[in-house]
Amino acid sequence: MSAAVAASGESTVVAGVDIGGTSTLVVFVDERGSVIAERGGETPAHVSGEAMVQLAVDLIAELTAETGMTPAAVGIGAAGVVDPVARRIVAASTSFVGWAGYSVGAHLDRALGVPNSLVNDVNAFLLGEVAFGAARGLDNAAGITLGTGVGGAIYLDGALWEGPEGAAGELGHSPSYVVPGHGEEPCTCGQSAHLESIASGRSIERRYRARAGQIAADLPAGDGAALATRARTGDGAAAHVFAEAGLMLGQAAVTLAATLDLGHLVVGGGVSGAWDLIEPGVRTYLAEHPPVSGRTLSVVRAERGSHAVALGAASSARALLTEDALIAS
Ligand SMILES: [Zn+2]
Repeated sequence: MSAAVAASGESTVVAGVDIGGTSTLVVFVDERGSVIAERGGETPAHVSGEAMVQLAVDLIAELTAETGMTPAAVGIGAAGVVDPVARRIVAASTSFVGWAGYSVGAHLDRALGVPNSLVNDVNAFLLGEVAFGAARGLDNAAGITLGTGVGGAIYLDGALWEGPEGAAGELGHSPSYVVPGHGEEPCTCGQSAHLESIASGRSIERRYRARAGQIAADLPAGDGAALATRARTGDGAAAHVFAEAGLMLGQAAVTLAATLDLGHLVVGGGVSGAWDLIEPGVRTYLAEHPPVSGRTLSVVRAERGSHAVALGAASSARALLTEDALIAS
């Protein structure tokens, strides 16, 4: 049994796809998680669900032509609530035209005819870090992505735990009360005082502008890297908003530890590029509010960066091959 699995694993390449709001990335991955080749494109999010999946199919064909390798399976990591069994998008942001309800798996079956999987992008991010990154080899871990918004995912006893409604780990919309006076901070969900209200890229920028006043006027909109540079070069207001994001993240980590006995949290997303500014707040919170279990709580930056979602999707696709091999043997 294990010999058949190993043989199929050693000789096959799988494709992992990250369909994001602005860009799509396809990687060909070997069994060790090495990216053999990759190609990106602009997500046609304003066109249709079919166009988005077809872009992935086209990019895979281009990589096959380039490398001479045909992937044995394909995994897609995509924004939105997904049904991984039906391989269909259940709900998505309105910025994705025709995405909610789209049968990604049926399209891939027709176009590629190989085993394929569909995973929510934040879940895929965590799978990628478990398979090949900062949570490598762990059976239990959580992931948080600090991007435009805040996403979360939970991996328990060696498998994703998505919850009966697929909403497990949505820590971005968990209430939080660490930061004094932030009770009115608006969240994208329409409520307020959520982790996302403080720790998303958009929130950090909004809070900086509110705090810094006139000196914020020449900060380019949406330029998180420029804001981080300000924080590193003596802008106290900028440093403050990153530090508060860290405090909130620390609170989320302690909540996870208290609820699920999870001792390992991997933090990714674009804002994690400012990890040096966020981590001190996390440490402060953990020092003041250690888990009552006495366990050590590890909160670390993701290792696979912009590849993590595609790698996790590839990992979920490779699991399909392993299952096939087990059934055949
Ligand atoms: Zn919210």
